Amino acid sequence: MDVIATTAEQDSTESRFAEKVTPYLRDLMESSEAIREMYQLNPELENLEADTSVDLLNEKTSTPVFGTVKKYEGQLLALLSYTCVSNCRYCERQDRVGVGLDSAGRLTKEKIDNIIDYVAGDETIYEVIASGGDPLTNPKGLRYLFEELSKLEHVKVLRIHTRFPLQNPDKVDLKLMADLSQLREAVYFSLHIDHPDELTPKAIKLIAELKAMGYIMITQTVFLKGINDSVETLKDLFLKLFELGVRPYYIYHGQEVTSTRRFVMDLDDEVNIMTDLRNQLSGLAFPQHVIDIPGASGKVVVPSNHWSYDSGSVSDFKGKRVTTSDWNEIAQGKGH
Ligand code: SF4
Repeated sequence: MDVIATTAEQDSTESRFAEKVTPYLRDLMESSEAIREMYQLNPELENLEADTSVDLLNEKTSTPVFGTVKKYEGQLLALLSYTCVSNCRYCERQDRVGVGLDSAGRLTKEKIDNIIDYVAGDETIYEVIASGGDPLTNPKGLRYLFEELSKLEHVKVLRIHTRFPLQNPDKVDLKLMADLSQLREAVYFSLHIDHPDELTPKAIKLIAELKAMGYIMITQTVFLKGINDSVETLKDLFLKLFELGVRPYYIYHGQEVTSTRRFVMDLDDEVNIMTDLRNQLSGLAFPQHVIDIPGASGKVVVPSNHWSYDSGSVSDFKGKRVTTSDWNEIAQGKGH
């Protein structure tokens, strides 16, 4: 597979990942410490001059065509936009977020055409996931990509990964969302959500509207020290989602890239929390705990304390075995 760099040129570290928050979130930050922690730039704890080019998750070496990541059989991630309406301080793609391909940070039609051509030429791809940055910051590109892909018979499932509804719920284009929801029997809408305070009345109303359009609603969460590192907080989050008819799908171990390091939890602490949660939650309210193995390829499920296991090493999808000390070494010296 050809390797094509996905990182556009960085103009300056400041513009690369400055504090950027919507007025909606700015209001929420007044009342929620968790939301403040998510978005407030802390210059003492963040080194914006750190090397952000580290490719811990091997995304840049899994790029068959510009603006894509392909790590798994049958699936393709399309990074439709390299920008977001707000910058989460723990973003693991922050070397790309905020660095535009053009001034708006969106993939151009020409680049999207290349992705469509690539998918058309590979009939093993049955699922395409629109991600970013945030794909909803490129609504025209998202519509074009999905409408064109829906003409390809082998593309059976479409998926949108976004945080936009939790950052700017009033600005979600409901007409676009309604149109895209009809393109396939199964169109998945995956919300990245990390704390119950993100489930405001506006966000809840929007989730209900998306569900009514026919989306299959799922979520992804990241373990974040100081934000959601307790059984109580995550139980509250997952139960609220479950009650809303949204299926908690994945919870990730955070990765140590540049400013994210202060949010990264000890993996054993995460396992303890997940074991407690498994004892307390319905299976449908319980997400899979996964780790994108640094230095390897793809995410694997982290076992709970219900099993006795050797946590000293793990194999990726290609059979490559990586020890936990290997990945700590990979993370050391990267960023700050
Ligand atoms: S919305 Fe996602 S891609 Fe954008 S800054 Fe937050 S974590 Fe990063």
